Amino acid sequence: MLGFDSFLCHSHSRTTVFGAFDPLHDIADICETHGLWMHVDAAWGGGLLLSRNHAHKLSGIERANSVSWNPHKLMGVPLQCSAILIREKGLLEACNQMRAGCLFQPDKLYNVDFDAGDKTIQCGRHVDVFKLWLMWKAKGTRGFEAQINRYMELAKYFYKVLKKKDNFKLVFDAENVGDHVLVKLPSNNIYIYTQIAPKIKAQMVEAGTAMINYQPCGDKVNFFRMVFSNPATRRADVDYLIDEIERLGKDL
Ligand SMILES: *Cc1c(COP(=O)(O)O)cnc(C)c1O
Repeated sequence: MLGFDSFLCHSHSRTTVFGAFDPLHDIADICETHGLWMHVDAAWGGGLLLSRNHAHKLSGIERANSVSWNPHKLMGVPLQCSAILIREKGLLEACNQMRAGCLFQPDKLYNVDFDAGDKTIQCGRHVDVFKLWLMWKAKGTRGFEAQINRYMELAKYFYKVLKKKDNFKLVFDAENVGDHVLVKLPSNNIYIYTQIAPKIKAQMVEAGTAMINYQPCGDKVNFFRMVFSNPATRRADVDYLIDEIERLGKDL
């Protein structure tokens, strides 16, 4: 399990901030050979499964033993709505059931197999999945698909605009990046690099114009990480954001 843990940590830190996809079939092959549990962290990317254009990026996820998925991210379900899906039927129940007689009575008038209480990790918490169910009913799978395809198009547009600018630099330039676009602000001086993203962010927040997260990249410099997950976003907003970063960053 040591190998698995270090692999997981290594893989997680890279793919999360880069919005990249792990090669799930290759990982599944290794897990099968060595009898390892395969967990896919699809917290952000899981939503792509609803898009016929983009679902292939998660090819191999069907071989996982477990998948975590946050519909409150790409799908836009109000916070919080997180799911963990386990392949093996009955495993959650076997792991989690406390048979707490004060909460869950086994001698009800209906089939208690349908009771979620003794299977869940959450016990007495919100039924967060209700928000997802309601949204799915309202938008339908095709509605979610259209929404997600638009995010991906916006990310592509953002990427294209930035590529043409010489005062922005992409952290890396790969087709495999999902809905994230990574932007690094240029400078000849590494020290300024680490200072500039936090400064621009602080100015954006003060001006009340935009809020965009920045991340360190290992021991390298900070960069802005852009994720589209708001159905109201248009190309004009993307143009505005780029102009705004340029405007705030030009005197730094
Ligand atoms: C958001 C995120 C998490 C954390 O999810 P929580 O449900 O807040 O614990 C883990 N992994 C990835 C890839 C994420 O994007």
